[in-house]
Order: sequence, then structure tokens, then C-alpha cells
Amino acid sequence: MRRAGFRGATLLLILVGLLFAVGAAVAQRADSEPVLALVGGRLIDGYGGPPLENSVILVRGNRIEAVGREGELEIPEGARVISTDGYTVLPGLMDMHVHLMILGHADYDYWFREYRDRWRDVIMPISARELLLAGVTTVRDMGAPLEDILAVRDRIARGEIPGPRVFASGPFLQKRVRPLEGAFRWTVNGPEDARAKTQRLIDAGVDLIKVIDQDRMTLEELQAIVETAHAAGLHVTAHAHRAEEIRQALRAGVDSLEHTGLATQPGYPEDVLAMLRERSASLYWCPTIEGLYLYPYTVDEFPERLDDPRLQQDLPPDIYEDVRRSLENPERMPYFQLVRRRVPTLAHKFDQMRSTGVTLITGTDSGIPMNFHFDSTWRELDAFVRLGVDPMAAIQAATFWPARLLGRDDLGAVAPGKLADIIVVDGDPLRSMEALRHVVHVVKDGVVYK
Ligand SMILES: [Zn+2]
Repeated sequence: MRRAGFRGATLLLILVGLLFAVGAAVAQRADSEPVLALVGGRLIDGYGGPPLENSVILVRGNRIEAVGREGELEIPEGARVISTDGYTVLPGLMDMHVHLMILGHADYDYWFREYRDRWRDVIMPISARELLLAGVTTVRDMGAPLEDILAVRDRIARGEIPGPRVFASGPFLQKRVRPLEGAFRWTVNGPEDARAKTQRLIDAGVDLIKVIDQDRMTLEELQAIVETAHAAGLHVTAHAHRAEEIRQALRAGVDSLEHTGLATQPGYPEDVLAMLRERSASLYWCPTIEGLYLYPYTVDEFPERLDDPRLQQDLPPDIYEDVRRSLENPERMPYFQLVRRRVPTLAHKFDQMRSTGVTLITGTDSGIPMNFHFDSTWRELDAFVRLGVDPMAAIQAATFWPARLLGRDDLGAVAPGKLADIIVVDGDPLRSMEALRHVVHVVKDGVVYK
């Protein structure tokens, strides 16, 4: 017994020695990784405090190693230095509601028919690249064919194509589906089926579950979805336009609500607000509000934005022609007829939602008609500010808080230990969010993309 004990102890010592050796090798490799230094600009770090002037950010590999000020934090010899002088440096933006499979075309049904077989290899990579170069380093993709979106997510993660980190819902779960949309919407029929479909999505590797029209589900069906997702550590988000959609979502314990809709109802009823107040500490709200303002803005104020040169540059000629032609007479689109009636009620509903204390996050529905991926996310923050949100809080709604919703402590801020997702913009977003439109540099996972 003693001998065995001794031998055990020897083995343990050898193992410990080996571990140290491996540890040292890893440390050495980390030391020899190239250092990137972003030097000189004003840093807004995502935590909401005052900005840091003349900042220095050191990135080693894909992580932020140190943050300090010029003259105080030494830049290692041999570092690649990018000057951020005169610019604002921020965490990469996190857009929590995008659709990579659409590119702003006005006719959904046409798009679903004609482009279905080009989503994975052509359309989604275009969307992903546009978002990344617009400073968006993380997205939630909120509804797409399962295999397509997971393939694109994983190709981006492997560095094969440029794009943001994708957190994908895969197909929506809902009660009834038109055959044309069956590839990205799955029906649930009874609690057992709801549980099984959710589990199938989880087993395939989705990052979250999205439900829609949940007021048409039974509470048992919706609860089965939420329980199954939560048991796997995934959050559940609910499309939430109708009052009863919101009530049902809250009864079942979903984690985030999408849109500020209520169809054309002018405001949220008091019982819904009371339910929201009750859940405010743990509930996220992604209003996607600029998508609604964008229609009258484009038609009445600035139709020229439909001729943005990036639309033509980024799309193959045939797709460009098709998208552009679809937007020729936007005022005739049935899709938008409701929008004009909703717009006058939006500010009030936005205020009502904010008053409940739920956590505001940024999402844009990027990809819906005339909402282009290269020009979407900054507009939502701009809308928040127009509606009275403090600019710093708006920035946190696109950085710090989305990281919390995703359960990712390593995202959403520029601080030591975080993954190096950093953007540099020309201008002062605390004065005007339009500064976020002028993206000078994009770093994602330590890689300089722009
Ligand atoms: Zn959407």
C-alpha cells in the first residue's frame, strides 16, 4: 500500500511538472504573439463612465491585454501601431436583430422564391461583410434556414469569410407557417412537439430560440419551448407586436422581446406594463424602432439614400438591379402602408417601455426593405438619442448590455481580458451618432479587417 502511495505521489509530481512545462510553453507562445497597439484616440469603453482621452489599447493575439494612456502605458517593441488620434475608439457594435438572408429587397415572397438557393453562399456572406465593415462585430441572426445560417456562422468563426460573430436562432418556432416560408419557420403542434423541435434546434447547435405569434400557441407549448431552451443554457426571444403576444411571452418566462409594435394600437395597456415592470430586472427589449422611421425618412426626406454607392459595389450586378428596381416605388408597397399609421405612436410607446425599467438593447431588423446592412446599426442608436436616451446609454445598448444578454463576459467592452472587438470612428458619437457611420478601423477577434 505504501509503495503504491509513493508511486502515486511520484506520478503526481511528474504530472505537476509536466503541467508547469506545458503552462510555460503556452505563456511563451502568448508572449511571442504579435501585439497590436491602438494609440491616441478617445476611448469609450462600454462601461458608461467618462471617456479616456489619448488612450492606448494593447491587443495580444485575440485578447485585449492592457488599456491605458499615452505616456503611461508602454507600447512593446515590435508592436503594430495603429494611430487613433483624433478619432473615437469603442467596443465593436453588437446588433441584436439582423437578418443575413435578406438585403433590403422590397418583395419578401419574391426573394424567398428566387433567391432561396443563393442565401448561404452568396447573400449571407455579403450581409455579414457589410455589417462587419460597418463596425458591427457581433449579431443575433433572427431567423434563417438552419443549415445555412449555421454554416455561415461557422465559416465566419473559422476566419474563412469576413463577418461579425453570429449568434443564430435558426428557424422561428410558431403555430402556423406558409409553405413558402417553411425553410426558416417551423411549426409546433402540442407541448411534446414543441419540446422536440426546440431540442432539435439545440442539438443542431443554435445559440438562441426565437418564437413568434406565441399568443396563438398554448401556454403549455410555449412553456415547453422555454424550459427546453433554458435547460440547455439558451435564451428565448419573442417577436412581440400584439399585446397578447407580449403577455403570453412574459407568462412563459422569455428573456427578450423584439420590436415596438402593438400593430396600430397607440400604446401598451396598463396590465402589460405592470407585467413588464415585474420582470424588468431580467428582461431585455430590442425595439428595432428605426426600421419604422426609415420608411417615411427615405420616401419623404432623402430618397437619394437608395442610390448609396455601397449597394452597387457590394452586390453582384443582377442582384443589385433586382433590389434597386424593387425599391423604385416604395410608397406603393403594401408592407409600408401600416408604417405610416404606426409612426406617430412610436415615441409614446418607446417611453412607456423605457419607464418599465426593462433593459434596452440595439437591434435593427437589418436586411428588411430599404434597411441595408452597411447603414443600419448606427441609425438605431441615432433613433434612441432622438427619443431621449442619453448617448452613452445608447452606446451601452449596443455593447455592454447585449454581451450580458448573450452571457458573454468576454464581449461588449474594451478592457483587459476581453476579446479584441474594437472599432475606430471619425467623430464624436456623444455629440452625434452619425459618427458611427464613419468607421475608420474594425478589429474583430484581434484581426484588423479595416
Ligand atoms: Zn426581424
